[in-house]
Amino acid sequence: MRLPPFQYLEPINVEEALSMIATHKEKIKIVAGGTEVLNHMKLRLIEPAFVMNIGNLPSLDRVDINDTEIVIGANTRLKDIARAPLVNKRFKAISEAASQVASPTITNMATVGGNLLQNTRCMYYDQSGMVLNGLERCHKRGGTVCLAVKGSNRCFSVYQGDMAPALIAFDARCVLEKKGSTRTVPITELFTGTGITPLAIGADELLTKIIIPKPKTLCGSAYRKLRLRGSVDYPLASAAAFVSVTNDRKDTTCRLVIGAAGASPKVIDGPSGEADVEKMVQRAYEQTEGVNNLQLPGAYRRKMVSVLAKRAIAAAMDGIKEGM
Ligand SMILES: Cc1cc2nc3c(=O)[nH]c(=O)nc-3n(C[C@H](O)[C@H](O)[C@H](O)COP(=O)(O)OP(=O)(O)OC[C@H]3O[C@@H](n4cnc5c(N)ncnc54)[C@H](O)[C@@H]3O)c2cc1C
Repeated sequence: MRLPPFQYLEPINVEEALSMIATHKEKIKIVAGGTEVLNHMKLRLIEPAFVMNIGNLPSLDRVDINDTEIVIGANTRLKDIARAPLVNKRFKAISEAASQVASPTITNMATVGGNLLQNTRCMYYDQSGMVLNGLERCHKRGGTVCLAVKGSNRCFSVYQGDMAPALIAFDARCVLEKKGSTRTVPITELFTGTGITPLAIGADELLTKIIIPKPKTLCGSAYRKLRLRGSVDYPLASAAAFVSVTNDRKDTTCRLVIGAAGASPKVIDGPSGEADVEKMVQRAYEQTEGVNNLQLPGAYRRKMVSVLAKRAIAAAMDGIKEGM
């Protein structure tokens, strides 16, 4: 498959990148690792007039650590996050998520920013024209029907990013810059919750950093994922858990974030006693949209979200014990 024609832009620094996106707005597509953008261009899902390559901007691939937080540049490659000893030790769910994305060939190129800002997926959307030939255009392709849920007036495409659930479990924030202003928002606010336009980032904004607060108490975390081929596939269900215990060791709390469960990651907060875990897992099941639009049946994926939620919480609890 060939790429459609476009004009290539390569800014030399963040300032120039911000000027370029301020000038061209919706007509420009940012490309970092390119592992999603180039596929989407070949599938003619997007045909931007300008493609701006930020993959070589040196200031965006740094990892800085201070007393209270770890700051990861948006262009940091997933392979580097997976291998970083500090991330592996203190932020286990994040390193487990990064090491389970796609395959080494992808994670050598793929960036954490591109991973967060990937589009939602559906077997009736990101497929070649040959596969979709003869089918009516769905909501996400600018049409008026949903091919996965007949008669529905909304889109059920699924967010299948691995990094967002793990980062949200740690309450991470991100920095979005545009010409003349900067905002820092929780990663949960990057998502609209709707399938057609799942991301809440402006056409003139650049994601520059991800900030993860260092946990102040004893904690453990884990990420669990279901995929067909362990060597390459997207998650068909996933769960990240972060469990922390107060310094007097009396109260334990848990944050569970489920992925591939709808158009955005879903957060379930609660105490983490045994009965509470059951309740959280039940809520995870209830919040999962079990639609038949990925490679496994929706009802099965829904059940697997609960199974993975339970396993992630148990592994996160074990992490605390090791810490103790
Ligand atoms: C075979 C295959 C398997 C895959 N498996 C997985 C998987 O298991 N798990 C998973 O999570 N993903 C998977 N992916 C999806 C994707 O390739 C990765 O998520 C990857 O991390 C995307 O990063 P990138 O740097 O290549 O993004 P790009 O393709 O460069 O960009 C992705 C999106 O983010 C935007 N963007 C990128 N950086 C910025 C920025 N700094 N500011 C604003 N916008 C930005 C782009 O405009 C684009 O919309 C897979 C892809 C392939 C091809």
